[in-house]
Amino acid sequence: MSVVLLDRDGTLVVDRDYLSDPAGLEFLPGAAEALRQLHLRGHRLVVVSNQSGVGRGLFSPEQLRAVNERLAAMVREIGAELAGIYCCPHRPEDACACRKPAIGLVQQAAGELGFDPAATVVIGDKASDVALGRAIGAVTIRIAPAAAAPASAAAPAADGDADYLAPDLLRAALIIERLRGASQPHEP
Ligand SMILES: [Zn+2]
Repeated sequence: MSVVLLDRDGTLVVDRDYLSDPAGLEFLPGAAEALRQLHLRGHRLVVVSNQSGVGRGLFSPEQLRAVNERLAAMVREIGAELAGIYCCPHRPEDACACRKPAIGLVQQAAGELGFDPAATVVIGDKASDVALGRAIGAVTIRIAPAAAAPASAAAPAADGDADYLAPDLLRAALIIERLRGASQPHEP
């Protein structure tokens, strides 16, 4: 069992730019199946997300809560479960301790859920996700859909980038299973 720290927009669901309506939630290709597989293999799934739309006044904390509650319900519907959803509501200029790549949200989650940040896998589509993962000593996987899917699940990453690149979350889940030394599941 390990903990997987997941970015939300652009990693789990389509990035809508300041999503304020639960109806706008839509899993990215492969994401639902990846979540289900990771959950069934015993991984704890924790969402860590920058939501500066709150600090910018674009949507309220209540709207953010509604979106996250809907996301949690969608994840349950596909047979998985989120152990937690942690969001930074601040703007970049607020210089808070929780906006990724700051590690405040992970520290909070680690304290509340009981895990070692250095033993996690961080998956996200942004440089801030990679930087967060490096800061806590985690394995990092960057979702890079624009990159052509290579013959293998993992493409070698450039220096300063994530440990692994994956075109979608399902390929990222495959990388995690390989890291654990588990037998590789069949590919779709
Ligand atoms: Zn913050």
